[in-house]
Amino acid sequence: MSKKKGLLFDVTLCIGCGSCYDACKQKNKLPRTNSNFLSDHLSANTFTVVEQYNDKYARKMCMHCDEPSCVSVCPVGAFSKSETGAVLYDGDKCIGCRYCMQACPHKVPRYEWGRTQPRVKKCTMCDDRIKAGKIPACAEACPTEATLFGDFDKIFEVAKKRISENKRNYYPHIYGLDEAGGSHVLILSPVPFEQLGYTPKLPKEPMPMLTMRAMEKIPPVVGLGGVFLGGMYWLTKRKNQIAKEEKELKEL
Ligand code: SF4
Ligand code: SF4
Ligand code: SF4
Repeated sequence: MSKKKGLLFDVTLCIGCGSCYDACKQKNKLPRTNSNFLSDHLSANTFTVVEQYNDKYARKMCMHCDEPSCVSVCPVGAFSKSETGAVLYDGDKCIGCRYCMQACPHKVPRYEWGRTQPRVKKCTMCDDRIKAGKIPACAEACPTEATLFGDFDKIFEVAKKRISENKRNYYPHIYGLDEAGGSHVLILSPVPFEQLGYTPKLPKEPMPMLTMRAMEKIPPVVGLGGVFLGGMYWLTKRKNQIAKEEKELKEL
């Protein structure tokens, strides 16, 4: 049996109850950071949010990319891919460079600003629960199956079936299937995804491939230092944006 797992989030079924948000906080022992969960943002204390767009609700969390750029840019291997498909982080290895924050196409990893030894924090797809035979806490808590967990092949089939059997209710695209090379989180929506704050127009190739291409532009004569600079060149495209986000996060 395939060990590759996935989460399906279906905007058409989400009632904005916040049970997923609360379950994630409880599972990860995170403090409540906002009296109104709908106003909360991803942070070191919030690994998933439910955002309201008029009468629709959209969850945001780590997409658990197939070929994650956070894994590929980390110079010390603090990020890794689990056999379940979850992208995990080892705070003991982290040197705090924050390249992962800059490289993530979905702008997910967050930094612990208030600690003397800060770590990067994000959703783990509840990898520990999956390995213990359970399902992620957010999926278990969802009362409407708007958040569904299972073998990746199965949730992909469910996503395709929902669209094909109810074409009028769904925008004809499964977000996360191709974006940035594909991911273990798939999303269905009744409207174009950019209307719900999902990052639009991501390349279909994995972002690590783009990193490598940027690196290939650097003459080999400069060796390892050149590769490092090539990676830096690509990463600095997000520098101003990250600086702005960091300022906001420090204020949370
Ligand atoms: S969404 Fe970002 S943090 Fe999550 S696996 Fe992909 S690159 Fe890494
Ligand atoms: S999978 Fe686990 S860590 Fe990720 S959002 Fe759901 S409850 Fe939180
Ligand atoms: S628990 Fe389910 S229905 Fe409630 S906000 Fe989360 S995804 Fe939506």
